[in-house]
Amino acid sequence: MAAPYRRNVIAGLVGLAACGFGAPAVWANQPVKKSIAKPTPLPKSKLVFLDPGHGGRDPGALGVRGTQEKVVVMAIARELQRDLQVGGRYRVLLTRASDSFVALRERVARAQAAKADLFLSLHADSHPDSDVRGASVYTLSEDASDREAAALAARENRADAVVSGVRLADQPDNVARTLVAMSQRGTVNDSRRLADTIVRTFGSSGVRLLPRTHRQAGFAVLTSPDIPAALVELGYLSNPQDEKLLTVRQHQIALARALRASVDAHFGAGIATRKA
Ligand SMILES: [Zn+2]
Repeated sequence: MAAPYRRNVIAGLVGLAACGFGAPAVWANQPVKKSIAKPTPLPKSKLVFLDPGHGGRDPGALGVRGTQEKVVVMAIARELQRDLQVGGRYRVLLTRASDSFVALRERVARAQAAKADLFLSLHADSHPDSDVRGASVYTLSEDASDREAAALAARENRADAVVSGVRLADQPDNVARTLVAMSQRGTVNDSRRLADTIVRTFGSSGVRLLPRTHRQAGFAVLTSPDIPAALVELGYLSNPQDEKLLTVRQHQIALARALRASVDAHFGAGIATRKA
């Protein structure tokens, strides 16, 4: 389900819960408002949140030649930010703008507070076997998703939670649970579509891929209930060839281009679905 459609369904659900079912009698007594034609607003640019992994006291993975993950992912995030901002179709914010430590849940909270439309976490991997190389893309696993939904819908966690624009604290238990479940399920589906798009784009751009490229895990940065999110491992710093490539400017630019094309395809597909 595309996000805007999901939001409408959720808004409808809350509307029904809020007014009960005796509401039409009240509506009948409402004065009829004159409709005033408003100019159609310009389409809002999408807000893309980029999350360069690690930072500050946490260098992330270390390459055999001493390359630090936090440095290469920041370089690629900056390149992608520049790329996405060209043409004004996207606004782009970073979860960390400098070499600073930001906790994982805080990264998600920043994207939620800014009402991001998409969340992309950028990392580079490490493996005990130095032959292992290639990129991979992660989305939130089913188990982790169910755990998050249950935790968010739990009464004690609802105080400040807003899902699809609705404050959970104002809702009865059953509505809060339904809202979170619907939102989370739709978001996971959107995230998987996004991940498959990145895998395809990387493949056609000549980026070397790990077998079973799209994987699922319980990464904390992927737990937003209403922002499609993927975590991209751009290569292995434990592999000498990948380490070299990740520090080469041309390769960083190529990765950023492929990610920009994936973001374009993701939102392009969303627009096509809505028109259909
Ligand atoms: Zn990492």
